[in-house]
Amino acid sequence: MDSPSTPLIALEAQPRLRLAPVPTPLQRAERLGDALGVELWIKRDDIGSLALAGNKVRKLEFALGAALAQGADCVVTCGAAQSNHMRATAAAAAQLGLRAVLVIRGEQSDEPPTGNLLLDHLLGAELRWAGSEDWGKLNQLVEQVADELRAEGHRPYAVPAGCSSPTGTLGFVAAYAELCAQLAEAGVAATQICHASTSGGTHAGLLLGHALSGDGPTPLGFDVGRLYPDPPAHVAGIASDAARLLGSELTLSAADIALDGSELGGGYGDVTPAATAAIRLAARSEGILFDPVYSGKGLAGLVAHAGKTDGPLVFWHTGGAQALFARGFADPLL
Ligand SMILES: *Cc1c(COP(=O)(O)O)cnc(C)c1O
Repeated sequence: MDSPSTPLIALEAQPRLRLAPVPTPLQRAERLGDALGVELWIKRDDIGSLALAGNKVRKLEFALGAALAQGADCVVTCGAAQSNHMRATAAAAAQLGLRAVLVIRGEQSDEPPTGNLLLDHLLGAELRWAGSEDWGKLNQLVEQVADELRAEGHRPYAVPAGCSSPTGTLGFVAAYAELCAQLAEAGVAATQICHASTSGGTHAGLLLGHALSGDGPTPLGFDVGRLYPDPPAHVAGIASDAARLLGSELTLSAADIALDGSELGGGYGDVTPAATAAIRLAARSEGILFDPVYSGKGLAGLVAHAGKTDGPLVFWHTGGAQALFARGFADPLL
């Protein structure tokens, strides 16, 4: 058995950049909680500078920390056109003086860029359209582009979709400890953390953080994208590999993963009526903005789940409101 603190000491020794204003606020959402009949707290990872806010920043602190430690001069990653992860990577690369190459899912459209894609252009990233919708293939293309850059004499660092590498996942192991300290200070005995999940690093990191601390609220992820054929196995693999980076033998299996698929709708990017209703409710009861691809669908999960538990609950706001300004996504909200 590991002593619980040893891997957390190893976490402190990992290369890490400081990109996010942490701790992010933990805010009581009284009016929204009352509407749902539960004591509700929101962890505000959506707060930060315009370009950088959102859950990917926590993962990039470790992933790009490793990149710089290895002497990388460029970063290659992938995502959908409205990827928050690609935009955060482009912004972090700009701040660090790294070249950013983004492999974008699907085909280039003739429409002018909006939302996150507009920001990718503004941030000076190089965009390459993949011509494929398959996430496994996108991750392969990232490796391929990195190989090409290496052959040209560059020193690329490849980051998979959503920065859900074992290294990136460490950002959410640290985040779990950050939340627990805030809950302790506020005297709140939260039972669960609800959040949106796609590429899995957020869920994997929170689960590992919970397993290593042996205490605290349990993570409940709402799968809003089903990026990979077997999300629980995917998440378990990332969490176990992240544990190894911390010198822990802890192995998570698919049975340890708490992913609820009820908010998936028609899959990644499909804006569901439940998400639309949840986004409106949060906007009108708290003045907080959620997005239709990720956090709003996660919030719809919380709305459905709240009546089944006594709480207190934490909703981890993973960001994404930039997509409200993307053509098409906001229309169902009006
Ligand atoms: C990427 C993202 C998520 C999902 O996080 P994963 O770690 O990829 O599962 C949730 N919300 C927002 C806003 C995101 O951009």
